[in-house]
Amino acid sequence: MKTFSMSPSDSERTDEVSCVVCGSVSDRPYWDCGGFRFVRCAACGHVYQNPQPVFDDLQNRYQDDYFDYELENDASFLDLMLRGLGDIDFDALTESLPRPRRFLDVGCATGALLQHLRTEDWQVEGVEICVPAAEYGRTVRNVDIHVGTLDRIEFAQGLFDVVHFSHVIEHVPDPRQFLRDVWQVMKPGGYTIIVTPNTSGFQAKLFGARWRSAIADHLNLFSTKNLKRIVLESGFDVLTHRTWGGIAQGMAPRWIKHPADRLAKPLGFGDVVLVLAQKRLA
Ligand SMILES: [Zn+2]
Repeated sequence: MKTFSMSPSDSERTDEVSCVVCGSVSDRPYWDCGGFRFVRCAACGHVYQNPQPVFDDLQNRYQDDYFDYELENDASFLDLMLRGLGDIDFDALTESLPRPRRFLDVGCATGALLQHLRTEDWQVEGVEICVPAAEYGRTVRNVDIHVGTLDRIEFAQGLFDVVHFSHVIEHVPDPRQFLRDVWQVMKPGGYTIIVTPNTSGFQAKLFGARWRSAIADHLNLFSTKNLKRIVLESGFDVLTHRTWGGIAQGMAPRWIKHPADRLAKPLGFGDVVLVLAQKRLA
């Protein structure tokens, strides 16, 4: 997968932030990426941008160029998402849910996953910040996509059986608030599926500031442990997690890449982590 990031513009305002995982304000310089930097929490090890661009400025990054990128990679992103769902036996997991089953994809881009699922008897909706991507999904794929961010869209509480967000939580300024918003719109016992870059992975440790996920649009980069912690503390039970991706294309000779890719999954050092969680009943 190619990585894409808009450059921060000079006019963007920034704020100093504290660690979203443990609340500590004690951090150490970690990765200097030139123009923006990641720090590491001295208390829990969480990696995050500090200072961070304020959200209203950040929103402006996700428009026309982002749409081009999303559209260009539509098929490969869909393929990766389906493989992720396959890894957690999504079909078996959700088979017994009473009909109609309702699925929300937050950060749904052009709605490729929604269109795919809808054919399998799901009522699907999406949320997308990139206006042209949402428009494309609505008009070309004929899927129901709300433009904006989850906190600004008025869904009924307890509406969805499944909320999926792939490569979203690392872009969100306040992941805890985001998880609370997800929790609100879910049915008790419903499932949430989170996919994000994994700082516990081999590539993050090997490449550091040159890691493909150390980009300006990523505000928080989670370890598997810290991601599970905030999910748990947001009213969910963590059912399982999976990681995949040993070494990115072109970053190592094949004789290293192939065994690394094969071992990443069973050993948990993959480049991307998926967490499957369930909204706690009480
Ligand atoms: Zn911390």
